[in-house]
Amino acid sequence: MSKKIISIDQGTTSSRAVVFDEEGKLIDFEQKEFSQIFPNDGWVEHNPEEIWSSVVLVTKTLIKRLNLLPEDIASIGITNQRETTIIWDKDTGEVIYNAIVWQDRRTSSFCDSLRSEEDRIKKKTGLIIDPYFSATKIHWLLDNIEGARKRAENGGLLFGTIDSFLMWRLTEGREHRTDASNAARTMLYNINSNEWDEELLSLFNIPSSLLPEVCDNAFDFGHTNLFGGKISIGGSAGDQQSALIGQCCFEPGEVKSTYGTGCFMIVNTGEEVLQSNNKLLSTIGYRLKGKTTYALEGSIFVAGSAIQWLRDGLNFFEHASESESLVKQANKDSQVIAVPALTGLGAPHWDAEARGAIFGLTRDTGVPEITKAVIESIVFQTKDLLEAMKKDKALFKSLKVDGGMVANDWFNQELANVLQLSVFRPKIIETTALGSAYLAGLSAGVFESLEDLKSNWSVDKQFNPLESSSKYTEWQEAVKKVLSD
Ligand code: ADP
Repeated sequence: MSKKIISIDQGTTSSRAVVFDEEGKLIDFEQKEFSQIFPNDGWVEHNPEEIWSSVVLVTKTLIKRLNLLPEDIASIGITNQRETTIIWDKDTGEVIYNAIVWQDRRTSSFCDSLRSEEDRIKKKTGLIIDPYFSATKIHWLLDNIEGARKRAENGGLLFGTIDSFLMWRLTEGREHRTDASNAARTMLYNINSNEWDEELLSLFNIPSSLLPEVCDNAFDFGHTNLFGGKISIGGSAGDQQSALIGQCCFEPGEVKSTYGTGCFMIVNTGEEVLQSNNKLLSTIGYRLKGKTTYALEGSIFVAGSAIQWLRDGLNFFEHASESESLVKQANKDSQVIAVPALTGLGAPHWDAEARGAIFGLTRDTGVPEITKAVIESIVFQTKDLLEAMKKDKALFKSLKVDGGMVANDWFNQELANVLQLSVFRPKIIETTALGSAYLAGLSAGVFESLEDLKSNWSVDKQFNPLESSSKYTEWQEAVKKVLSD
């Protein structure tokens, strides 16, 4: 039997285990949702024990269903919701508090107090100051959980993003490690020198003994004995970087855009850090054999979730897929513009206070016109990101898309038209899980090189740009009207 690779995909709402074969073909998967905890306005937490048990359950269930023995499994790869922060006891493994999730805003006033440090932090980490990243979450935990700071100063506590927490648990406490792509999202890691940054650690008052060792994305992270025998953990990457790898965006100028709940667009910028002047994030795409490949990232908070809002909030349709036929029924002359800033606006505006609006309503505006305007708004937001990336002088070669929304052909074609770029939808759109499987396969020797991986990527459908008049200028005017300042 040819060997299999297991990808553990620990996401924001569910944990999945996905089995791939040696050609990167998806064999089977298992998924389990877990609780979202909202203890206060703007606070979002997960129970780490529930995350852990969901990961063990999906992995065990899948191994059993496929009758896999440890020797059938070449390696395990991990990919995870990024920035989410856990601190646990070095000896007992007990967590000191729930995981503080990337969406959590509790540290926003602390972030505001750091504005004078903006430039220094950006130069070192590529990030803008925001509660999103791990550093202020760690700071909050140490200051607010009784006894935590003292225990940390005495070397009794460990910090990890989800990858690191899972690795520590999977190796039964033997390895406290993370990978470069996850480290790059903590706001404590210097992406230029590739090391934890002493100045930032002192700025955030975080003892270095808390931190995991930072490794390449394809690396022998350790092994687990929890699934019936010894299995190595060979790959790890944050979810969006994992999708970049799963989409084989290995050349500068190759871009992937994932349209799930939100949209995350990442362009490979090669061996140099490209500092953004347009509020995009500079980040580590991946690090292999000690060589770092950088990326520029922009995120849209509301993408597929705007379709969910039309479906569940406004009861426009029963299934997200119906949105496509509705758009085709819309009046072609409709001037409706929707700005779905339902939870603020992400890049390049970073305006948490902005709220949504619909402009240009007339007596004949109906469900199809509003649906069309909402889908167009996601296209326009992608163009905003692309324009920001271009202003930052990022190269642009092609756009590879994935995520639930790209099932909508009208959306993909409109993307191609408005961006005036060819848009490629791959056969495997499970690119996040695939990326970490590729990394695990690289370290296990299943795959030889990045070139080798490229031969697995194949296009399901290509959308070429057609001439079309779009309402992009009107969109830009509409966005100005919803910005908070
Ligand atoms: P996540 O991983 O963030 O949970 P998925 O990648 O599974 O998200 O994508 C699901 C999203 O895609 C949902 O928000 C849904 O509204 C949207 N979606 C699914 N099918 C379509 C479609 N045919 N047209 C437009 N949006 C769609």
